[in-house]
Amino acid sequence: MEKNRLLNELGLSDRVIEYGESVLGKLEKRFKEIDEIAERNQAKVLLAMSKNRVSAACFSGTTGYGYDDLGRDTLEKVYADTFHTEAALVRPQITCGTHALATALSANLKPGDELLSINGAPYDTLQEVIGIRPSPCSLAELGVRYSQVDLNEEGRFDFKAIEKAITKDTALVAIQRSKGYSMRPSFSVAEIGEAIAFVKKVKPGLKVMVDNCYGEFTELIEPSDVGADMIVGSLIKNPGGGLAPTGGYICGTKECVERCAYRLSAPGLGREVGANLGIIDRLYQGFFLAPTVTAAAEKGAIFAAELYEPLGYKCVPKASETRHDIIQSIELGSEEAMIAFCKGIQLAAPVDSYVTPLPWDMPGYDDKVIMAAGAFIQGASIELSADGPIRKPYAVYFQGGLTWAHAKLGILMSLETMISRGLVKL
Ligand SMILES: *Cc1c(COP(=O)(O)O)cnc(C)c1O
Repeated sequence: MEKNRLLNELGLSDRVIEYGESVLGKLEKRFKEIDEIAERNQAKVLLAMSKNRVSAACFSGTTGYGYDDLGRDTLEKVYADTFHTEAALVRPQITCGTHALATALSANLKPGDELLSINGAPYDTLQEVIGIRPSPCSLAELGVRYSQVDLNEEGRFDFKAIEKAITKDTALVAIQRSKGYSMRPSFSVAEIGEAIAFVKKVKPGLKVMVDNCYGEFTELIEPSDVGADMIVGSLIKNPGGGLAPTGGYICGTKECVERCAYRLSAPGLGREVGANLGIIDRLYQGFFLAPTVTAAAEKGAIFAAELYEPLGYKCVPKASETRHDIIQSIELGSEEAMIAFCKGIQLAAPVDSYVTPLPWDMPGYDDKVIMAAGAFIQGASIELSADGPIRKPYAVYFQGGLTWAHAKLGILMSLETMISRGLVKL
């Protein structure tokens, strides 16, 4: 068909294109809802930017100590106002999400304290941070104990068990909003709020940190609106909007965030040092784009579920379920299928489209991991990407897409590749 010519050139068959169109027909209402949330969140960011008088002077690069860095200090106020917190630490010196989380934890836990995770095992890379898997400089090495309460059979918080697990030493409760590499559902902000209220009732004064990775801007409120003392995330995911070249954030109470600043730089220095290195304009512009980029990624996730579910693959969340993050996991059932899926995503990438992703041993992860990522920013998973550990149930975690059009094309290419390798029939 003539109208498919360009898509055919990309490698898509008429069959797959038509199947994609038939799926799209069902999504109009959901996409409209997503656009509405994006609009409200866009307003939130705009309000924070105008309130803090963002100007061209904020975009100047600084070097050395970075004393009186207007761009850095104003950006931190913009984040704090957008997420309704007293303070924020938003910096390129925070190298990634894991670093931001490690900073938040180690700054707010002291020897003898207990850290409690109430959603079962935390994200893979935090296992070494905590010392579940031994590592130099882990919290365990510093004398911070760790315990966890698994989720109940429905994948929800087990309040009875949580109450029992809170001891006189429990100082900080950690909650992970998105599912990470597990097949549980992600939590809504309302559910997180319920858990925060519960643990604070059991033990007033307890701090709560929410790993907010992948959740930012998918709802109208954030965990900081429902009592979290700290929300933490990566700038190469949602809030960086695809433009931030590196960085992480911690937003929260003044008390918690200041401790994080002392841990990140040095006691006595705190937030006063940290040059912006000339990349701060991209952090502003990325944050400005973040609500709509997140919306594009979310549309991609829903489209993927609607596409794969009728073909017999288990999707989490299900196609019809509401979303609280941008991740779509699809149980593909075999290593072969994971490789084919990732190959398809890679074929549709703007960068490195010619490479073949293969499973490899990645630092911080127990199993081999496969990753498709043809991103402008290395490892940026707000850009169209797919990854997953090579272990049962061989689930691939799909996320990102700076534009909805790209997300759609990438997902169609994944299906095309699975079909061409005889793994799926339409
Ligand atoms: C990505 C992610 C992290 C770690 O972030 P990195 O930037 O990869 O270090 C932590 N927790 C969750 C839930 C994540 O999705």
